[in-house]
Parts: sequence; structure tokens; C-alpha cells
Amino acid sequence: MKICWFNDDRLGLVVGDEVLDVTQALQVLPAPRYPAPLADMLIAHLDVVRREIEQLRRQAPRQPLTGVRLRSPVARPSKIIGVPVNYSDHVNEAKTATTVFKQYEGSIEDQGLFLKASSSLVGCSEGVQVHFPHRPTHHEIELAVVIGKPGKNIAQEDSLSHVAGYAVALDMTVRGSEDRSFRKSIDTYSVLGPWLTTADEIANPQSLALNLSVNGQSRQQSNTGHMIMGIVQQIAWASTFYTLLPGDVIMTGTCEGVGPVQPGDVIQATIEGLGSMRVEVR
Ligand code: MN
Repeated sequence: MKICWFNDDRLGLVVGDEVLDVTQALQVLPAPRYPAPLADMLIAHLDVVRREIEQLRRQAPRQPLTGVRLRSPVARPSKIIGVPVNYSDHVNEAKTATTVFKQYEGSIEDQGLFLKASSSLVGCSEGVQVHFPHRPTHHEIELAVVIGKPGKNIAQEDSLSHVAGYAVALDMTVRGSEDRSFRKSIDTYSVLGPWLTTADEIANPQSLALNLSVNGQSRQQSNTGHMIMGIVQQIAWASTFYTLLPGDVIMTGTCEGVGPVQPGDVIQATIEGLGSMRVEVR
């Protein structure tokens, strides 16, 4: 199932090139109470919401996908977890371009994970707003893993049972010497979309082609099979540090070809089986 948020907080089911408005399915969610649980309500109750969507889909109003504004398919992640340099070709790229990249040494395990502020998250239709134009803002296409059920110290063999689904992500980054979390948490610098593809639709998340172009020119091309640390290990490792909650997003690292964008550019980011998102840079 492909689930999106669109326009003004409408819940959508993506079928082909159409969006079915299934907002009514949200009525099965428990009424909000203060303090709200620290997790995304929709993802936390995805099973019952999905059943409701199935009930609604035949009578749901339809409209073409091209006519809607796509928001982040996860509305309220408690955290966005980033995996550093997780494709060997990007490791070499980061090591050779000494003027732009902060010099990181050691394995992923040595460097650790990093967090991006959840306030940086937008959907593809909102676009990226370049901040600090005197410094380079780079695109990084990444497979996003969306956590579906809570977990702490998750065993590797159980990792994938904690996944609600997958999406295309942009881990936008201002290059420089500061901590990653500082440079990657700028407003609009986390893009998620075009929708959430539920885990049952992706037989092997570790074998998906990904590519990114800017203004029609190819910049990044790889396959999630080339990750250094696989998804299963990432989830298990992350959960030894952080309790993973429904709606948490893991950005699983980027491949070679990262580069600068400027206002007016158009990024097209595509992952096999997950869709393609057009992101305007402002
Ligand atoms: Mn990244």
C-alpha cells in the first residue's frame, strides 16, 4: 500500500497516477490526549488504519497525483536518524574532496549515528529552501526506513519486523566543519516522499536502484545493495542507543555523486519500487 499526506492534512492512498482521499480512515485513531505519546499516531496504528483504508477505497474521491501537494508521509517522527558515509564510493569521494567535506575518520561504528531535527522535515512539494547561500548545500539521496513498532535492543533477526515501510529521502546538508546534526537539521533539509510504501510491497529493501538528477542531469546512481552497513544491522545498532518509536525515520546513507544545488534547481529523486519525487530548490 502506498500512503501519502497531501494538500491540507488529507490522507491519501496512491493507486497508479491517482490519489484516493481516504482521510476518513483517521477516525479509527484514538482521540489525542495531553501529553501525546512520543510517536507518530498514524504509523503507530497503521494496521487498523490500513483496514479502514481498504473499506473506503471503492467510494473514495479520486484526483490525479499531478494536482496535489505531497507532504511528508510521516507527519510527526520523534527523531530522524542518519547513517554516515555508508556507501564505499561516497567514502572515497568524501576523503578526496578536502575543501568541502569535514574529515571523518574510521568506520561507521567509530563515527556513530547522528540525529536530524524533526523540524527539518518536509514533503517533496514543499521543496528545499537554501539557507546560508555563501556555503555549499549538497543533495544526498537515501533510502528512508520508517519504523513501525517500538523497540529497544532489537535483535538483527527481528529488525525487519519493526519496519512499517520505506520512502525516498533527501538528507540535505550544508558542508562545513560543524557537527553533522547542526548542518543537516536546517529547516527543509530533510525531505521525505513521495509517499510511504508499506514494507509488504518491498521484498528486498537491500536491492533497490536509486538515482538522483538535478535539472535533468544525472548526479547520483547506485543500488541499496552497495551499503556498507545493511538495514538490519542499522536498526539493531540504533536501538541499542535509542528506543525506536513508530514513525522514526532512518536515513540509511548516500552514495557517490553528492553535489551543490542552488535556488531555481529541480531535484528528481527516484528509488525503485518507492516512486520518484520532484523537489524544487528555492
Ligand atoms: Mn546522508
